[in-house]
Amino acid sequence: DMERRKYTTEEEKDSLIPNLRGFSRQEYLKKREEQKLIELRQELDDEIYLFGDQKLTAKERRSLDEKRKKLEYAERRKKLNDDLENQDEYRMPSSYDQEGNVKQDQRYKVLTERYRDVDEGEEGTPWQEQKNWEEERIRIAGMKTGAKGAQAKGQDYDYVFEDQIDFIVDKALAGDLEVEDEEDPREKERKLREAEKLSKQEKLQADRKLLPMFPYRETLLQAIAEHQVLIIVGETGSGKTTQIPQYLHEAGYSKQGKIGCTQPRRVAAMSVAARVAEEVDVKLGQEVGYSIRFEDCTSDKTVIKYMTDGMLLREFLGEPDLASYSVMMVDEAHERTLHTDVLFGLVKDIARFRPDIKLLISSATLDAEKFSDYFDHAPTFRIPGRRYPVEILYTKAPEADYLNAAVVTALTCHVKMPPGDVLIFLTGQDEIEAAEELIKQRTKSLGSKIGELIIAPIYANLPSDLQSKIFEVTPPGARKIVLATNIAETSLTIDGIKYVIDPGFVKQNSYNPRSGMEALVVTPVSQASANQRAGRAGRTSPGKCYRLYTHWSFQHELDENTVPEIQRTNLGNVVLMLKSLGINDLMGFDFMDPPPTETLLRALEQLYALGALNDRGELTKLGRRMAEFPLDPMLAKMIIQSETYGCSEEVATIAAMVSVGNSIFYRPKDKQVHADNAHENFHRGNPGDHIAVMNVFNGWAETNFSTQWCYENFVQMRSMKRARDIRDQVLGLMERVEVAVISDRSNEENIKKAIASGFFYHTAKLGKSGGDYRTVKNPQTVHLHPNSGLTEIQPKWVVYHELVQTSKEFMRTVSAINPKWLIEIAPHYYSKRD
Ligand code: ADP
Ligand code: MG
Repeated sequence: DMERRKYTTEEEKDSLIPNLRGFSRQEYLKKREEQKLIELRQELDDEIYLFGDQKLTAKERRSLDEKRKKLEYAERRKKLNDDLENQDEYRMPSSYDQEGNVKQDQRYKVLTERYRDVDEGEEGTPWQEQKNWEEERIRIAGMKTGAKGAQAKGQDYDYVFEDQIDFIVDKALAGDLEVEDEEDPREKERKLREAEKLSKQEKLQADRKLLPMFPYRETLLQAIAEHQVLIIVGETGSGKTTQIPQYLHEAGYSKQGKIGCTQPRRVAAMSVAARVAEEVDVKLGQEVGYSIRFEDCTSDKTVIKYMTDGMLLREFLGEPDLASYSVMMVDEAHERTLHTDVLFGLVKDIARFRPDIKLLISSATLDAEKFSDYFDHAPTFRIPGRRYPVEILYTKAPEADYLNAAVVTALTCHVKMPPGDVLIFLTGQDEIEAAEELIKQRTKSLGSKIGELIIAPIYANLPSDLQSKIFEVTPPGARKIVLATNIAETSLTIDGIKYVIDPGFVKQNSYNPRSGMEALVVTPVSQASANQRAGRAGRTSPGKCYRLYTHWSFQHELDENTVPEIQRTNLGNVVLMLKSLGINDLMGFDFMDPPPTETLLRALEQLYALGALNDRGELTKLGRRMAEFPLDPMLAKMIIQSETYGCSEEVATIAAMVSVGNSIFYRPKDKQVHADNAHENFHRGNPGDHIAVMNVFNGWAETNFSTQWCYENFVQMRSMKRARDIRDQVLGLMERVEVAVISDRSNEENIKKAIASGFFYHTAKLGKSGGDYRTVKNPQTVHLHPNSGLTEIQPKWVVYHELVQTSKEFMRTVSAINPKWLIEIAPHYYSKRD
């Protein structure tokens, strides 16, 4: 097994680390370059070794020469790279930020331009190949993006987009459908009239019949009846998620038990359940419901249940044989999230001793063989695709500021392209909000000169009442721009998208088992992912996908496939869960792709340090209680331990606030000073960020959860409501595992000790020269997040909630601690020497 072999030797493990860890864009490119160099050298060495002094054929010699040339080129490139690191002359004045540091993105730009200069005119270098290819494409295409439309009506707006981006057309992603002839307008009109006569429910039912899935309804039901396990493959939007559970319900499967369907993302679970409830014509939460962490929207009546994969994993704790289900559909299997991968092993096991349960594994990608092999050669049911061709366009040069490039491209589309909505893939809420702001700014002065624009954001933390906006049909004359995270790649299908803009990045977990460092990192997408994204443009008509990177990058810098999450994340949570399910032999667990042994060992070691496992690796009483909380083991430990420090209510509040994430405070552009002043109040006396977020919650609670208070303090009401919900549930769980709720707000030291009792892994010490910190165990350089209240004080020792990696590795939510506590709290982990 190739995947398994990957982790067998130390060297191989070493060579994998750079891939797994992830880097910022610049670091990534640099690392890639270095890695490529090493690989090339190795390859050449191998070859020379292989051929030795034997006589070479002409072909072999050519291949060797080619490799030499490539190596030479790569070495030059590396040297340039190193030189640039130490040289300032190339940088323009605009490349400096206010403090006089070179802007990261500018350096990258200079770097790439520099490469081009050097390589100009040199035959045989990759750049030259790229250039030839580009020129060829331009000649064939005979156009730049939008050039055609510009003659018609766009000319007035050229000045707005002087930073307009040049694209090169590549061949299209083949579709399954031909480009349809324009429908007879009279026929169209007649259909519209007819549709208007239908009631809403009739329209929904008519739409269901139009889905690619529908013609296969009977055959699919037949296949499910005949086989216990079935792999289902179909293009995104074919109706797998919304239709299959309904078909099964209509066919009577819901009489024997619930029909469950897992989703890797909570927004998808909620949104799909809402749609299906509408189609079944019931109130959401009744016959059709959903369950996500901290939110259960189901009832006794529920027969179709959508849930996150993580929630199903939790359900195993209470119902190890899934007795209440007659069908389980593990949807979006291709996403290979951590929880879905673990579910594979568990449901496969259940299918063996519950012959009555039906198991469906559905995926949007065509390589279902791996799934079939894993599930004992289960048959695959393919739903033929129904997608129009999508033209793919690449930028001529790398785009340093992809956010701006994405916005400019979207707006160029808007003024110059025929009707059709735009979908931009961004990495997270921050970016989406920034893009929204940017679009508003750039279109402000244009008023009614351009068509109406509807901006529709979608990301995990978007409140549910705003989520449906992306599905609203765009009125004639207007254009919708959807700003989405990866959620729109396959989880949600938005009809009417004709233009996809893909900067080529995604925010991913990254974990280094050596150092135990875990961070969310913006990394380049894989080729497979980029192609999925492009496919979203061809659902209702032929479309275009603008890739904000070069064709060369796509071919040489993107991995072919995304590494499954299980191989790049901390497994503490999952190991605790599996141990609670009585699965002791984790090395022997039937993983589709096993996690690195080192990561497993790390997780066991961490759980042992937290006291959840004993030295034989068995679950302890404390571990059993920790597993009850749907939280990271460190948070669970912190909560349970807080009782002994007499501040469990405060700690529950802190746990809820940190679980909400970083969306508590907001700083409107025009009131930044006011907002900063308001936020500083919570940090008065410099108690640390944990206590500051607790102060926020308590302040709000004291005003009886007032909206006005949130408004005055520049605190997001929605995040606070969510924190309140989570807090209530944490308090409920504390009661269940018998943690007494005791309050002592005044003793800050005890609160921080309780935090450290769970987070002693996350501690750092100020470096000798100040400014940066070193993590205590497995020293790594980290920094205080600029939003931390401690940036001016820089305490010598700190405990942090999480690391995020953007331009640097930042500790987010930080408090000062006394190192002596560590010896007291975790004597088996820290000694005086540390
Ligand atoms: P698949 O799972 O095969 O990707 P889905 O079942 O998710 O396909 O989607 C089928 C259709 O249902 C699509 O046309 C999609 O736009 C529509 N749809 C799904 N969820 C919603 C929703 N919340 N609101 C409106 N339409 C939806
Ligand atoms: Mg789906």
